[in-house]
Amino acid sequence: MKPFDFHIHSHYSADGHAAPAQIVEEAEVKGMYAIAITDHGPELSVGINPYSINAYLEELKNLQKESSIPLLIGFELNIVDRYGNIDLPEPLLSKIEFPIASIHYLREASAPQQLARSYLERAKMCIERFPVAALGHPFFLHRSLLPFLSREDIEEFLDLMADKRVTIEVNAKYNTPPPDFIKLCIHKGVKLSVGSDAHTAAEVGKVHDIFRRLSKLGVKEEDLVINEFMK
Ligand SMILES: [Zn+2]
Ligand SMILES: [Zn+2]
Repeated sequence: MKPFDFHIHSHYSADGHAAPAQIVEEAEVKGMYAIAITDHGPELSVGINPYSINAYLEELKNLQKESSIPLLIGFELNIVDRYGNIDLPEPLLSKIEFPIASIHYLREASAPQQLARSYLERAKMCIERFPVAALGHPFFLHRSLLPFLSREDIEEFLDLMADKRVTIEVNAKYNTPPPDFIKLCIHKGVKLSVGSDAHTAAEVGKVHDIFRRLSKLGVKEEDLVINEFMK
């Protein structure tokens, strides 16, 4: 399988350290076939400064011309409420080649069952309303929420993902989602993305273990989102 890393933060995220050009260099050295730079949306405390969004897009666009591997302009957007809203206005969203939608906090719920339900509802609303490319670190909020959902709910969710052609991210940093869920994605025709969730140059491209594991699970090249970008 051709390794790729579609979840990388640059120093445009307040918790990121590498310059975009440094990320591309590192990815080339680590043998990545393609990458997406996906900085945090502005709602998160460590998100991009809203006034820097244009500079971010401009810098990545210029870098695309120099990069020897395909570089996708991405964002890791936040699903901010129960209506599935995300923290980038529609006109800007249309410029993003790989928008990941993630949930980083759920203020109103507390018991794990409740958290899992609210997570599911928000993710569903977002996917129904917005053309996002992937769900970032799916069902992970300090712990996996999957054990608190019924098989029926999970299957229904994956049917929606397949229908909307949204991919499920396999996240190297949080080691999520678990193998059974990955197998179910493939069975349901949901494509997979892979991301290191790097916040430093050294972490870029730390996805080789994930690809080995996916291979062992029987995941094929055609089950991966990269195929759509390499044609
Ligand atoms: Zn995240
Ligand atoms: Zn991230």
